Amino acid sequence: MAQAFICNGMLGKLCKLMRMCGFDTAYTNEGMRIIVTARHQRRIILTKNTRLKEKDGVLFIQSADPIKQLGEVVNAYDLKQRLQPFTRCLVCNHALKPVSKEAVKHHIPFYTYQNFDIFARCTGCNKIYWQGSHYTHMVHALAGYFNHPDTDE
Ligand SMILES: [Zn+2]
Repeated sequence: MAQAFICNGMLGKLCKLMRMCGFDTAYTNEGMRIIVTARHQRRIILTKNTRLKEKDGVLFIQSADPIKQLGEVVNAYDLKQRLQPFTRCLVCNHALKPVSKEAVKHHIPFYTYQNFDIFARCTGCNKIYWQGSHYTHMVHALAGYFNHPDTDE
């Protein structure tokens, strides 16, 4: 079974990067109650909170840099082969579902319609994503960082 994670308030950027890679990652600002939520939802806690450091099911994040933080998680749980970019909403963590260009035509800027071909919609908040140049650069950067051989970009 794929691991699921939960980040606390100090790790917002890491949370977005995790979702960008396709890892199921919740986010909370509820302080120490994160322990209850994580246990209930069977998630591994990612945190920089030293009060949580010695608890079970916690990965204490060392680095201040979000990309390096992501590297810590990937290494700790051997996620290199599990990278699935463009499958999860960066805002709400729900799964993305591929949609046709025509289906989203009236919900995206005309420029986007003209210039991009691969679209997906969030099954939670309905946000529409497209594989634009920024996204491609980001995935390249991440793939390079992990030296991941199977990334089909
Ligand atoms: Zn969403």
